[in-house]
Amino acid sequence: ILQKAKDLKKHRQSLPIYTARDIIIKEVKDNACVVIVGETGSGKTTQIPQYLLESGLAAYGTIAVTQPRRVAAINLAKRVAEEVGTPIGQRVGYSIRFDDTSSRDSLIKYMTDGIMLRELLSDRLLLRYSVIILDEAHERTLRTDILFGMVKSIQKQRQDLIDKGKKDVQPLKIVIMSATLDAEKFSEYFYNAKIMYISGRMYPVKILNTVEPQSDYVDSALVTAFQIHQEEAPGDILIFLTGQEEIENLEKLIEEYGVDLPPTVGKLIPCPIFAAQDSATQQRIFEPAPPGTRKVILATNIAETSITIPNICYVIDTGCHKSRGYNAKIGIESLLVEPISKSSARQRSGRAGREAPGLCFRLYTEDAFEQLEEDAVPEIKRCNLEAAILSLKATGIDDVTGFDFMDRPSKSGMLRSLEHLYALEALDDEGHLTDIGKKMAAFPVDPPFAKVLLQSEKMECTREAIDIISLLSVDSIFSAPSAKREEANEARQKFTSLDGDHLTLLNTLRAYESVKGDRDWCRENFINSRHMRHVMDVRKQLIEFCHRAGGMDPTKSCGHDLEIVLKCFLAGFFQNTALLQPDGTYKSIIGGQTVSVHPSSSLFGKKREAIMYNELVFTTKHYIRGVSALESAWLSQAAPKYFGRRQA
Ligand code: ADP
Ligand code: MG
Repeated sequence: ILQKAKDLKKHRQSLPIYTARDIIIKEVKDNACVVIVGETGSGKTTQIPQYLLESGLAAYGTIAVTQPRRVAAINLAKRVAEEVGTPIGQRVGYSIRFDDTSSRDSLIKYMTDGIMLRELLSDRLLLRYSVIILDEAHERTLRTDILFGMVKSIQKQRQDLIDKGKKDVQPLKIVIMSATLDAEKFSEYFYNAKIMYISGRMYPVKILNTVEPQSDYVDSALVTAFQIHQEEAPGDILIFLTGQEEIENLEKLIEEYGVDLPPTVGKLIPCPIFAAQDSATQQRIFEPAPPGTRKVILATNIAETSITIPNICYVIDTGCHKSRGYNAKIGIESLLVEPISKSSARQRSGRAGREAPGLCFRLYTEDAFEQLEEDAVPEIKRCNLEAAILSLKATGIDDVTGFDFMDRPSKSGMLRSLEHLYALEALDDEGHLTDIGKKMAAFPVDPPFAKVLLQSEKMECTREAIDIISLLSVDSIFSAPSAKREEANEARQKFTSLDGDHLTLLNTLRAYESVKGDRDWCRENFINSRHMRHVMDVRKQLIEFCHRAGGMDPTKSCGHDLEIVLKCFLAGFFQNTALLQPDGTYKSIIGGQTVSVHPSSSLFGKKREAIMYNELVFTTKHYIRGVSALESAWLSQAAPKYFGRRQA
């Protein structure tokens, strides 16, 4: 045990940040806010809380460290507990949803930003904490942005109380930590806080792009990993993938292929890392591979800046991640696989050069790299403003227009969103969150879809509502190759509902289910099977959510009485409605805009009394897509508040 403690101490002293220890302590003591920028792996997350603890800053409150990811919070807390030398949950603890090891005695506490926001509801001034370290600030998730504003205001409120002579209140220290250099924005926001740069150690990393775009990056990752294993010098491999299923797939593939290796080649050991796995498995990634073998770490972008894995010499970058953000179609979180940004690609390649010169295999072309966005767009700019407002309100911030955003949305956009939320019955006359609004805030989809789901519970057609929302999460499940347009149209007739696109989609899904997603069937019927698989993914996530967090029965079905499903959708989309005019065109009920049914819709060329639609796209005219027929009498039932007020 003594030897281990000695080793840990040596490790701590060997980290690049160690030489800056005293100056970091001094700056945090002298200033209310400090921004610390340092290369990934330099020791920010594990060391700085310990330095502050050693310097006495935990004397009047816990040191909190927030993390965007659960796995990172757990993993780092365990490591630091080991370094401090007490069991996890005593001096060092962590707190994530459904799992809290921290205790009153915890002096350092790692937590997800979601938990911190929750604690804010019961402890408005976060008086338990002396220092709040906002880690991974460069990620700019909606939650971190909200936290930024909240802790800034808490710091001021605590100072005001102290200035008024309150004896039992202590000042709050704020430390912002980031792995990317563009820290000016954080500094400006926190009263021009001092920026400290911690230099790391970096060896050169050679970048190799593919010559051709890869159609299946999991497959190319597999081939590349075995190529490295058979041809390159020792050193572990790190592969960036997008999620648990993909990681498990590749893990299996690596094990299968490994069997065919010649006996002279050592084993290639896959080590997955993702949220839902036990800690022994997780610890394995930090331990050296047995002699003669090589580890291949399979990770999501958690290994980009949150967790540093030792001995990586080769990085395989698929160029994709699941964005925490946002599917712009229905707003569902964390499902869409999207290209990463250039700055992420650079972080990923950097992981190969921590201990020696390394190699990074980018499974995309140089051209594709050039086309990536420079930086990821902050979530608040990508996500639906109404969803952001609901989150703020759910965190207890009622004055959203007065909230101190780092990137402020426009006031007019904010007012429009507030009005829409009111019409959806998420806010009451005073602008406070209603019970419906509270529930909507918890749903992982945009507010109108959340409203549809809530309504579907009342109307007992949750199954159909989930199905259709999932179907709307992709551009189109139908493929229409221009050479075979007639054939495609004919195939589609089978599924077409006279009521419009919502039920046409549902019919198609039922047919797809009855053949168990057969690919030949998809081809014959001009169904885009890739999009369909995505739909099934979204559906799985929604079912799980409704079941677990929403306390709903996701199997409740209305059978053949499908009219009520349309009524449910109207409860969320009453603003997207149009009435037939005497001249045969449609005019939107709000704004009186002439809208044209898109040629891809099953109601194209049909004349119905009233219609609702999911999206409005402007190309040469205002086209509407996802269109279904209604009876105009449903309108006032669907949104009494809205249509009542408009009439008044
Ligand atoms: P930063 O926050 O600056 O990116 P960290 O404090 O997370 O750096 O990591 C510092 C060092 O600690 C790295 O070399 C990393 O490999 C090591 N480390 C972190 N967690 C563990 C762990 N669970 N087991 C072994 N080493 C770890
Ligand atoms: Mg860190």
